[in-house]
Amino acid sequence: MLDALKQRVFDANMALKQEGLVVLTWGNASAYDPETGLVVIKPSGVAYATMKVEDMVVVDLHGRVVEGVLNPSSDTPTHLRLYQRFPELRGIVHTHSRWATVFAQAAQSIAPLGTTHADYFEGPIPVTQAMSQAQIDDRYEHHTAIVIEEAFEGTHPLNIPAVLVKEHGPFTFGKSVEEALMHAIVLEEVAFMAYHAKTLNPLLTSMDSQLHKKHYNRKHGAHAYYGQKK
Ligand SMILES: [Zn+2]
Repeated sequence: MLDALKQRVFDANMALKQEGLVVLTWGNASAYDPETGLVVIKPSGVAYATMKVEDMVVVDLHGRVVEGVLNPSSDTPTHLRLYQRFPELRGIVHTHSRWATVFAQAAQSIAPLGTTHADYFEGPIPVTQAMSQAQIDDRYEHHTAIVIEEAFEGTHPLNIPAVLVKEHGPFTFGKSVEEALMHAIVLEEVAFMAYHAKTLNPLLTSMDSQLHKKHYNRKHGAHAYYGQKK
């Protein structure tokens, strides 16, 4: 079942490794199929070198394995809760990519400092609150999604398709698993640039808001004009 989607999720997971966003097995990509209400996700702890398309696990939104012999990623409850809360999402990617994780560990959001950021993210990339002791002890992965939801209050993960989980790492989002993958790549580049720009000029706070809006709306929203006519 969902063979085409399994292939796409497999490809996205392999691309994370190829793009250098994942060390060892520290990452996972998933996709949500709204027609069946099912999610395809990477299996837990399988080395990329031996991972196969058939290893992708199909689960329902309650976490029951519908197809697959391997255990799904240990982060599956985080993905599932986010698909429930934001049903417009079709893809989620989690990594411990280096520069984004540096910001997550420093508990700092990433302020927009240039048009690379503005082209993809409508505002700063948020960092979550710390998790409580109770949240860590009880259904930790589910509560990881809860602090992510709180970080998106007043906005939406399709408008700012990345978040930094404090003392952990980034999650990125998309209208497809490929788009979530692209946002993971962009996020890493934006984090790298922001870190170095702030090192060169510690007084930097945020880019010009009009320039930010101009670039974001050029690619998104009702009057987007970037790229080729569809
Ligand atoms: Zn992680």
